[in-house]
Amino acid sequence: MTGHIVIVGYGMAGARLATELHARNGDRKVTVLGAEPHRAYNRIMLSTLLAGKIDEPDVELAEVAGQGTDVRTGAPVTAIDRAARTVRTPDGDLVDYDHLVLATGSRAVVPPLAGLDPAALPPRVAVFRTLADCRRILATARSARTALVLGGGLLGLEAARGLAARGLAVTVVHPHPYLMERQLDPAAGAVLAGTLAGLGVASRLGVPATGLAADPDGVRLDLADGTALHADLLVLSCGVRPDTDLAAAAGLAVDRGVLVDDRLRTDDEAISAIGDCARPPGQGPAGLVAPAWAQARVVARLLTGEDPTARYRPRPVVTRLKAAGIDLAAMGDPTGGPGEELTFSDPARGTYARLRIHQDRLTGAILLGDNPSVGTVVQLFDRGAPVPGDRRALLLGRSLGNAPAAPAASPALMPDAATVCQCNDVDKGTLVRCWREGARTVDEMVAATRAGTGCGGCRQAVGGIADWLSEADSVGTPR
Ligand SMILES: Cc1cc2nc3c(=O)[nH]c(=O)nc-3n(C[C@H](O)[C@H](O)[C@H](O)COP(=O)(O)OP(=O)(O)OC[C@H]3O[C@@H](n4cnc5c(N)ncnc54)[C@H](O)[C@@H]3O)c2cc1C
Repeated sequence: MTGHIVIVGYGMAGARLATELHARNGDRKVTVLGAEPHRAYNRIMLSTLLAGKIDEPDVELAEVAGQGTDVRTGAPVTAIDRAARTVRTPDGDLVDYDHLVLATGSRAVVPPLAGLDPAALPPRVAVFRTLADCRRILATARSARTALVLGGGLLGLEAARGLAARGLAVTVVHPHPYLMERQLDPAAGAVLAGTLAGLGVASRLGVPATGLAADPDGVRLDLADGTALHADLLVLSCGVRPDTDLAAAAGLAVDRGVLVDDRLRTDDEAISAIGDCARPPGQGPAGLVAPAWAQARVVARLLTGEDPTARYRPRPVVTRLKAAGIDLAAMGDPTGGPGEELTFSDPARGTYARLRIHQDRLTGAILLGDNPSVGTVVQLFDRGAPVPGDRRALLLGRSLGNAPAAPAASPALMPDAATVCQCNDVDKGTLVRCWREGARTVDEMVAATRAGTGCGGCRQAVGGIADWLSEADSVGTPR
């Protein structure tokens, strides 16, 4: 049992750890020191806030730091003294710790462009990482008619789609020949660019930006081919970098993340690291909330003595784009490696699917547009389960004869082990159990299991399970 636990970083990982610690009994003091001036919020939902589909109060996190947790906002930690076991805040305060957890997240990368000072972004130019960034973008967007987004990765496209939904004419500038090159192949990238064009987002591909000039009247972005683009707003979406400065300055081992073992322990036994800033064995910097929250649980179980054998095991990552009018899921690597490959392309209707199967298991998939089998594919990939013999069921969501098309589409046919909420790792069996224990509405199921409190993408599936259970109850069907 650890005495005073200090958490540095009050973001999605730090807030979850504070909640996990509070949920476990024990006589321990927990202090959270967060650099941002406000309480922790759901960073993922900033894309949805930018798109105008929710308001600021809706980005609040479900977590509430419990009584006995000393939460200090606007309190960045500037140094760690490992010998004295203290951390320092800018006003010179020293906070003692018995165990320190670094949850400092990532920072948006500001690209090296001529005319751009990373320490002081000019007017009309913003990155997209924090609530403050989102407010800055929205404040400029209010009087803007055109926007440029530099970077055609996941977040850049979510920002572009959100700004287009607010009525701006948006152009995405991307140095690679096709969009989302980390998750997609050229054919999928082309289909995606077509879908985006139909939604008011143009793409300028295969040309890096070299410099910019911005003043209160507008922004000019210079491109490597000698041309320039003009707009009222420029969003820089050029990736994130794990925030490891504090750890590195304290002499902890750092390599694209704070290096930790499968207990999330750094090379100092009194210091752990979780979330975007941490790099556990077998995982690059993840940049997703599911690993951050899984790691928070492992650290809470270890620090409270609940389970001294708890270990973090990275899971396969499924990437989904949260943009109205675009359905995209990508996982693994469908473009290379051994095995069979299945493809289906219907660019006119914005649909593309590519699956790779090795030894009857899915090793990668891209599903873009209207793919009825997406739920099944995600589950088979996630669980490493064998794929159906009739591959058409997977690729097209239907098969010949009487075989069921997409087992995951119906809650009744879903196995209990099927993951419904990827962010919180909640399976169907857990949702059914919480129903049996008395939860009767989607909100009650969400409160009991946390399903749907991350990216929110599974809320509909949770609703489907609630409807199915309610129907089964009313006709007395055994589950
Ligand atoms: C717009 C957007 C959309 C996203 N969409 C998705 C998605 O759909 N699915 C998904 O899984 N992930 C998504 N992510 C990524 C997800 O938000 C992160 O993986 C998650 O927030 C990681 O949590 P974290 O606590 O490690 O980092 P963060 O949430 O970044 O929190 C870190 C906190 O630590 C603070 N901090 C840093 N240094 C110090 C210091 N020295 N002292 C005190 N405090 C410090 C920071 O200010 C910050 O508040 C998205 C991110 C963004 C920006």
